[in-house]
Amino acid sequence: MLEDKIKKVIRDVHDFPKKGIVFKDITPILSKPELVHEIIEKLKDQVAHLKIDAIACIESRGFWFGTILAYEMSLPIIPIRKKGKLPHKTVSVEYDLEYGSATIEAHDDAIGKGVNILIHDDLLATGGTASAAADLIIQSGGIVAGFSFLVDLTFLKGKERLRSYSPNMISLIEY
Ligand code: AMP
Repeated sequence: MLEDKIKKVIRDVHDFPKKGIVFKDITPILSKPELVHEIIEKLKDQVAHLKIDAIACIESRGFWFGTILAYEMSLPIIPIRKKGKLPHKTVSVEYDLEYGSATIEAHDDAIGKGVNILIHDDLLATGGTASAAADLIIQSGGIVAGFSFLVDLTFLKGKERLRSYSPNMISLIEY
């Protein structure tokens, strides 16, 4: 099963980026093109019933699969980046982290009014990042068509936090 294949390859890195965190490192997947292909096919399958006009990919690990998925579906890519990385005029949303806050941005002409957007990231933890991306899209007049992740850390209940934006939440594996 694809789920088992992915779980076998994902690497747990303890105490990264700080003590107490078990970081789910998906980079070993990237060296297995056959597995990348299967993952993209599965994601495509899972979002096929949704009306999607563009895919918003969250920096930086969300770029890997989000970009390939958008390419495969012939859809535009909307880069969602950390503050200060995008060169042109931006729209931004500040959100809370465990300690302190962070800001994500998109170019102000990247999100069209009434455009149905799938938000993609590698992993769903508390849902803070994905909900900030959803706020950014709504604030710019876009529509949140759904969310896709490779991994859902279900014990952090991220999906509960995202439900109010869209009931369409896809994750390939869960812990
Ligand atoms: P959150 O905003 O809490 O849902 O965190 C999700 C974001 O943080 C994603 O962009 C993930 O790449 C990253 N992240 C959070 N926790 C982990 C983890 N345990 N392993 C890998 N990435 C993580």
